[in-house]
Amino acid sequence: MKTEEYIEIENKFGAHNYKPLDVVLSKGEGIWVWDVDGNKYLDCLSAYSAVNQGHCHPKIRQAMVDQAGLLTLTSRAFRNDQLALFYKELCELTDSHKVLPMNSGAEAVETAIKCVRKWGYESKGVEPDKAEIIVCDNNFHGRTLAIIGFSSDDNSRKSFGPFVSGFKSIPFGDIKALEDAITPNTVAFMVEPIQGEAGVIIPPIGYLKEVREICTKNNVVLILDEIQTGLGRTGKMLAEEHEGIQADLTLIGKALSGGFYPVSAVLSNEAVLGLLKPGQHGSTFGGNPLACAVAREALKVLKEENMIENAAIMGQFFLDELKKIDNPSIKEVRGRGLMIAIELFEGTEGGARAICEKLMKMGILCKETHTWTIRFAPPLVITKSDIEWAMEKIKIAFN
Ligand SMILES: *Cc1c(COP(=O)(O)O)cnc(C)c1O
Repeated sequence: MKTEEYIEIENKFGAHNYKPLDVVLSKGEGIWVWDVDGNKYLDCLSAYSAVNQGHCHPKIRQAMVDQAGLLTLTSRAFRNDQLALFYKELCELTDSHKVLPMNSGAEAVETAIKCVRKWGYESKGVEPDKAEIIVCDNNFHGRTLAIIGFSSDDNSRKSFGPFVSGFKSIPFGDIKALEDAITPNTVAFMVEPIQGEAGVIIPPIGYLKEVREICTKNNVVLILDEIQTGLGRTGKMLAEEHEGIQADLTLIGKALSGGFYPVSAVLSNEAVLGLLKPGQHGSTFGGNPLACAVAREALKVLKEENMIENAAIMGQFFLDELKKIDNPSIKEVRGRGLMIAIELFEGTEGGARAICEKLMKMGILCKETHTWTIRFAPPLVITKSDIEWAMEKIKIAFN
């Protein structure tokens, strides 16, 4: 079948909850993907950073195939021989004490919300049903009801109420706003180290460090949503390392499986996850042996193949090159590691979508975010010559 036929069938039978570029992909390898008509593209989105390790990484693939032939699902009613090692290796890599495995990122966020509320009542002494969680404007933490209830994006919320209460939203990057928002009922502050879906918004230097201090001083749990920023994307294992801090709860997902399978996790100190008792939370698929085997290998190759270091070096190179583009429609080029964005001035003809369409025709897949921003987030295995190749096309697109 041809591209047009796939699109027609998809549009006819599927819910239209996405507006994808009209490219139908059928194969991937490293930073490259191919469509059904045989065209090759550089993937500059990496499935929103879920394929940091590159498409179809051969070692992760092998781990998946091997485990699929042994044991895939036991449920947590029984133990499996992959879970313990997944916990141990993940804790060692991220300097954590406890793990709770889930599947999607949104589930990790929901899990964190439940856990910090419980901590608030049972440990901090907040009165029943009074717990408050502070979040940031323009956050993105997923698509479930509790989460969209505290989104500031009208498109995500509209017509989906009533929502879960107990959330308060403050401006991102604003320390004073955080201090003012904290009350005796505040149990947690949840924030992305860099706001990804909002368009790669980087807070002022020192923000997270001050956030850490304020949370500690007020006995408030700091939850960092590193589902997009974590696992090498910003040039560190976790983005919190850029400011030398440690969150109390860290949420990871996406690249935890290298794109093979939905795997997410809540990483924690003892104080919060330690409160959970049997029967209080769970997931049929969470922590299954296939997920654990895949995640173990996905973490291993990140380290072994120096992908995190490569993200730091290539990210800086890519950012510097993008900054050299001289075009009056560009408002700002910003990024950390391989999490990069070009923001156009509002009103630029065609917006970011037009640039993405142009790039697609030249063999680069990017996705616009919020009309004026184009994100560049290729797999972390990209090389200097790949970036040089991409830069030639990007310059033409901005011509
Ligand atoms: C993608 C994302 C999520 C949600 O993950 P899903 O797997 O899509 O549920 C949550 N937080 C951040 C920061 C994300 O980028």
